[in-house]
Amino acid sequence: MIASRICSALPILIAILVTSIPSRAQMPARIAPADILIVHAKVYTLDQHAPWAQALAIRRGKIVAVGSDEVVGRMRGIGTRVIDAGGKLVLPGFTDCHVHFLSGSLGLARVNLGGAGNTAEIQNRLREYAANHPGDSWILGRGWNYAMFAPATLPDRQALDQLFPNRPVLLTAYDGHTGWANSKALSLAGISKDTADPPNGAIVRDPQTGDPTGALKESAQRLVSKIIPKPSRVDKLMAYRAGIKWANQNGIIRVHSAGGDFEELELLEELRQAKQLSVRFYVSYFLNPPELRNEDIEVIEQARKKFHDQWIDANAVKFMLDGVVESHTAAFLEPYSDDPSLKGSLFWDAEKYKAAVAELDKRGLQLFTHAIGDSGIRTALDAYDFAKTRNHTKDHRPRVEHIEDVSAPDILRFGTLGVIASMQPLHSYPDADTLDVWARNVGPERATRAWLWKTIADDGGHYAFGSDWPVVTLNPFEGIQVAVTRQTTDGKPPRGFISSQGLTVAKAIEGYTLDAAYAGRREKTEGSLETGKLADLIIVDRNLLEIDPQNIHETKVVFTIVGGEVVYEAETK
Ligand SMILES: [Zn+2]
Repeated sequence: MIASRICSALPILIAILVTSIPSRAQMPARIAPADILIVHAKVYTLDQHAPWAQALAIRRGKIVAVGSDEVVGRMRGIGTRVIDAGGKLVLPGFTDCHVHFLSGSLGLARVNLGGAGNTAEIQNRLREYAANHPGDSWILGRGWNYAMFAPATLPDRQALDQLFPNRPVLLTAYDGHTGWANSKALSLAGISKDTADPPNGAIVRDPQTGDPTGALKESAQRLVSKIIPKPSRVDKLMAYRAGIKWANQNGIIRVHSAGGDFEELELLEELRQAKQLSVRFYVSYFLNPPELRNEDIEVIEQARKKFHDQWIDANAVKFMLDGVVESHTAAFLEPYSDDPSLKGSLFWDAEKYKAAVAELDKRGLQLFTHAIGDSGIRTALDAYDFAKTRNHTKDHRPRVEHIEDVSAPDILRFGTLGVIASMQPLHSYPDADTLDVWARNVGPERATRAWLWKTIADDGGHYAFGSDWPVVTLNPFEGIQVAVTRQTTDGKPPRGFISSQGLTVAKAIEGYTLDAAYAGRREKTEGSLETGKLADLIIVDRNLLEIDPQNIHETKVVFTIVGGEVVYEAETK
């Protein structure tokens, strides 16, 4: 009787073993004990040969086995920490492909205006902040959106002057492209009706009086920001520590910095030495127009000579070709729909940009170019095409950052040229700012090509996802959700904004993991959970692949492991 039960169970047992053991042998030849074992998990590996496993073993910062509880469990030794995942989902840790990390980190201590619906709400938050920070000479904040000021779309200094006649205030729009200063800040910066607009910027003026309104577009923000007391080295280190903690809590294990961190490489090194660096940094040098100078090359070469490992890598250069749609500074081939006198302009002379791209590409640097409008995007693709042909480079994977509105004939070029589409799902978040301001400015025809990640991928291109933090939250789950639904968290618009671009959850996760690793030229060591790769992974509180996509944004990280160390662990109730 017993024998027959065993016999009849045997085929089932074999079937379980066959499905749970990866098809490729993932066990080391000699079984040495693991530092960490994760068992009873649903491991979504992103390894196409064995997408699911139950357990994973880590030793010396790397994944040493992925497979069944039984087989991987044999690596348990005396000193092994065993994490029982209790059936929870394990994913590769997330890479955020576009951040301004120091800026975001410093912002964690400033007034957060994100989600404020109107001026009164902003005033309330400022009042509260000012009362709690009586010693701050300036009031600095970030996160207001353009739709709040419709139909004008830009704010006015009066709302700030009412509260703060004598204390300078500078509030940055959520996208970082427009500042909102009060009269005190303008006067400290010496800005009056006679001040000329700086290159690539505008002091917005009252059409009647010519007086500055307080709105400062693009580089005009610098006129005020340059007089704000600079954060000290200690302030910056504190900010980085807070930012790194926040990133780990959100499941982030690597960031690609698109500006503001290159100058701080030594601080990152200091954090590494102090064992406080638990986010990996891929940092780009921000190259300003008008041209690439020898001094730039010197700085870039020095930095990458020193920083080129798995923790700090400075092998990238960032260009900024245009601005943003909301303030009509993104460069388009045809005029803006709401104002036919404007079509934006490039911040670089196209030839000088092309020459700089070709030179840096020849040196093997990876290039990031901010380009939002179809003219900016085309200019970037043309320059990458030129560099590839001239240098005979293969697989350098230059990137276009943002790609909010690409022209139809350029879509295919991402695939044919091997250019990465680095996109930020939350920038397409279809709230009033996107549907009323953004879509109105580009007009209905161009709006059909808003954030085309799926079409770019279907046509052979690679996309990779990020946040542009502090432009939007660093939380990747919110990004994954909108990449899938193309809707707000309350389900609007009902059929999604250009819903054809909605991805499967698995594909959206790839944008923050394996595709993100590819976008940083690190897919051989990162981005999936396979033997030999870095032990960078997370355990989350729900199975994103099974739940209603409308709830993905509520996902919480339970564990974050970077380089084989537990760097974040949620408090258990
Ligand atoms: Zn950015």
